[in-house]
Amino acid sequence: MAAEGPATRLVQVAEHPRLLKLKDMFNSKFGSIPKFYVRAPGRVNIIGEHIDYCGYAVLPMAVEQDMLIAVEPVKTQTIRLINTNPLYPDFSTSVNNIQIDKTKPQWHNYFLCGFKGIQERFCLSNLTGMNCLVDGNIPPSSGLSSSSALVCCAGLVTLTALGMSLSKVELAEICAKSERYIGTEGGGMDQSISFLAEEGTAKLIEFSPLRATDVKLPSGAVFVIANSCVEMNKAATSYFNIRVTECRLAAKLLAKYKSLQWDEVLRLEEVQAKLGVSLEEMLLITEDALHPEPYSPEEICSCLEISLEELRTQILSPNTQDGSLGLKGPDLLEQDGEAARCQ
Ligand code: ADP
Ligand code: MG
Repeated sequence: MAAEGPATRLVQVAEHPRLLKLKDMFNSKFGSIPKFYVRAPGRVNIIGEHIDYCGYAVLPMAVEQDMLIAVEPVKTQTIRLINTNPLYPDFSTSVNNIQIDKTKPQWHNYFLCGFKGIQERFCLSNLTGMNCLVDGNIPPSSGLSSSSALVCCAGLVTLTALGMSLSKVELAEICAKSERYIGTEGGGMDQSISFLAEEGTAKLIEFSPLRATDVKLPSGAVFVIANSCVEMNKAATSYFNIRVTECRLAAKLLAKYKSLQWDEVLRLEEVQAKLGVSLEEMLLITEDALHPEPYSPEEICSCLEISLEELRTQILSPNTQDGSLGLKGPDLLEQDGEAARCQ
């Protein structure tokens, strides 16, 4: 299944109220009729929080809430984006000048991440433009992955506008990589489930290589997903990347402790694979190698035999190394030892 491309369906727009509404709004905004519609779902994760970027398997399932985009390819080499939600301002840009500003994660940048991923995959410099009307109903910044649904939807929009095809697995990998243009260093779960989800089943998602296995949900089971209404905008703050960085630092310290080529290591799972040990053995090694008290940047540098400058520029992400963005992250490794916790 995963080797296939995403499903295409012929639908009668008149029979689908949401599509009909989108079509009418598209007509009133752009003065034309959409040529096609693309959707990508959000997700809820059942098992495995914050371990996909460590290389470990996760168990998400898609939710009904999704990103839906009505599209009309045009010859003007301009991308015009309008959102049904007036909170998200109109945007347009030339296809030849795609700029994704990591310091300002505005909504259109997520679309551009998906666009750029496909543009790069096919090494295309001259793409045709498109008019898009975006309609999302995933609560934003609430942990249901509205951002990845938008990136994945935009990737599929671009692919479809080009008349090209790719497997769901490759699309997931492209979009996982291209969402990082917004600045968050995610592991790939969200994009994988957005493309690989199937009705009635959760998916065990494993990485390197990416694969998805059905995990049947008990029939009749109801999952209640409660919204705390507390939002966390992952790209506008450093919290998400701090956790990724902590895990990356732990992986490097463990690798160094075990005399592995630590500078090539990025994820904890790589250390485990290189050592050829079980998870239980990894735990014992971790207890031997790392102490539970916070690490200072100096201590990390001394363990890895690198300078503070090398730590900042070669290991930390932009929003965990300088003072421009984060609520807490910027000076974190200097001022707040907690952030360098490695356990
Ligand atoms: P999430 O947990 O939902 O993925 P993120 O903080 O990663 O949270 O991403 C949220 C961002 O995704 C929003 O700030 C907005 O830029 C974008 N987004 C979410 N929903 C929509 C939407 N309906 N239309 C446009 N952009 C959206
Ligand atoms: Mg997100």
